Amino acid sequence: MSTTKLNQQHWALRINPGPVVGGFTSRQAGNLRFHSADQPAVATARHTVLAELGVVSFPLVETQQVHSDNVFVVTLSSLPEIKKSDGRYVAPASDALITTMSEVTLSLYYADCVPILLWLPGGRGIGLVHAGWRGSLQNVAGNTLSALCQLTNTSPAELHVILGPSICRDCYEVGPEVAEQAAILSNAEDFLSQQDGHWHLDLKSLNRRLLIEAGIAPERIEISSLCTRCQPDLFFSYRAEGPGCGEMGAFIAIL
Ligand SMILES: [Zn+2]
Repeated sequence: MSTTKLNQQHWALRINPGPVVGGFTSRQAGNLRFHSADQPAVATARHTVLAELGVVSFPLVETQQVHSDNVFVVTLSSLPEIKKSDGRYVAPASDALITTMSEVTLSLYYADCVPILLWLPGGRGIGLVHAGWRGSLQNVAGNTLSALCQLTNTSPAELHVILGPSICRDCYEVGPEVAEQAAILSNAEDFLSQQDGHWHLDLKSLNRRLLIEAGIAPERIEISSLCTRCQPDLFFSYRAEGPGCGEMGAFIAIL
């Protein structure tokens, strides 16, 4: 895999394996999510990063992001069905996208959740996952991996995965109701621990575990060590800034 780290101010991490391009933006790229009144600024910021990836002419598909385990398959026939009146493509009731189509950009927007990019060598298929605690506990990552394998008729062992910048264990205290649900998963001690009487969840380790259980080879999983809350100069963070904070983007496309 070819990754480029912090090579440009708008990106925390970029990937370019063969015909696949993608990456995770930094705070310097600006807020990329249409959740505020600031729509023209978001459109401009998105245009800038898509141009840097060389995908500005492709349809840009996003998930609705409802903290589910649902995977949406982007195809020639499903694409027109999810086109909104403002020209955006939003996959309903989903937190993951997969496709074998080239010249379509998959995207998600996030502030602390784990963004995951998946691809097959040679650009035979790509996917992306938005995994907060709810989606992670529902195994949205494993579901997406399985769906991409089924769509492309390949083995999980062939896939490559990268987990982008997201909140670290120390920064991510969770309530007992979340800890209770995490504790029933196998090897829970790998991603759930107590610090000073409070529960902490390591979302990156949890998703790594789920991906390995779904069949991916550990050496094909790359994990960004960057934490969105520890580094406010680099990232927006919902935990640090609260509702209405800006959001980074994760993108992947086959050229
Ligand atoms: Zn942190």
